[in-house]
Amino acid sequence: MPVGALIDIHRHGQGDGTVIINIDTSQWTDCEYRAGFYSLGIHPWFIERQDCKVALQTLKSALADANLLAIGECGLDKLSGAPFSLQESIFIKQLELAEQFRKPVVIHCVRAFNELLRIKAALNPLMPWIVHGFNNKTSIATSLLEQGCYLSFGKALLHPNSNASKVLPVVSRDRFFLETDDSYLAIDSIYRAAVTIMQIDLLELQQCLENNFIRVFLHD
Ligand SMILES: [Zn+2]
Repeated sequence: MPVGALIDIHRHGQGDGTVIINIDTSQWTDCEYRAGFYSLGIHPWFIERQDCKVALQTLKSALADANLLAIGECGLDKLSGAPFSLQESIFIKQLELAEQFRKPVVIHCVRAFNELLRIKAALNPLMPWIVHGFNNKTSIATSLLEQGCYLSFGKALLHPNSNASKVLPVVSRDRFFLETDDSYLAIDSIYRAAVTIMQIDLLELQQCLENNFIRVFLHD
């Protein structure tokens, strides 16, 4: 499978090149989004807006699609209005589907890293977990990396003093990704920021992210 130069593993809305478009299960009927690679999941913000049984069914029926590269974004958010126990149960159902259908998971996690790590220890999943939009302390990054998670960095890299900018240089090169998320930025601005922070050649950065992408998302 040909891979483009700058890979964006998490974007809301259309993008150019090799990009994984994120779709919420409520958007599933919009086939425009499914023309290229995408991830599909139930976001903790939208749990209460929909019938989660139907949403999980939608997700399940989509998992045979070769363009569906990951489940997500899904996860835990202490700032979301949805009851935490409900968030946890919907998240775990998606994690179980990921194992069953051998898909990596793109994870949204806000102020719930201890809970996330507890769930990881309990499930002991074989599929890679990618904590997206990472912009937290180095100690949290270290715990996630030690437990085998991948980290994906986005617009926070544009700020040299952000947590993301401090964490990126210490992350092993085989364990991270770059993304635009909902920023509407071009992915090359994120790559340029990463090049400066990591003091690495753009070509070398592209090569390592292409290797990571193939290993994690195109593993079959
Ligand atoms: Zn997102």
